Amino acid sequence: MLILTCPCCHVSAEETEFHAEGEAHLKRFGPGSEDADFESYLFMRKNPKGVHLERWRHANGCGKYFHAARCTMTLEVFGTYSAQTLEPPKFIQDAIRAKRPDWVWSAA
Ligand SMILES: [Zn+2]
Repeated sequence: MLILTCPCCHVSAEETEFHAEGEAHLKRFGPGSEDADFESYLFMRKNPKGVHLERWRHANGCGKYFHAARCTMTLEVFGTYSAQTLEPPKFIQDAIRAKRPDWVWSAA
């Protein structure tokens, strides 16, 4: 079971209070982009065994979107942060590297 803390209203709750919205930090491609880029944006997602950055929504709470960094193998949550960022903030990256020294941030 995941326990997440919403960074917007600071409520900690089980994952059933939230809704998983998929991979975080996707680069969006719209009209006028290359077909391959648009197809990749629509269908291609990371599915790592290990650290994953995800988009969540506090569906049964404040309703806001946020991002969470967690391990898909151990369900360890490294932290949550605002969805209004282009990359994980330093405190999240530091928390991940403290447990997974080999982890490197890379955009989608
Ligand atoms: Zn909330």
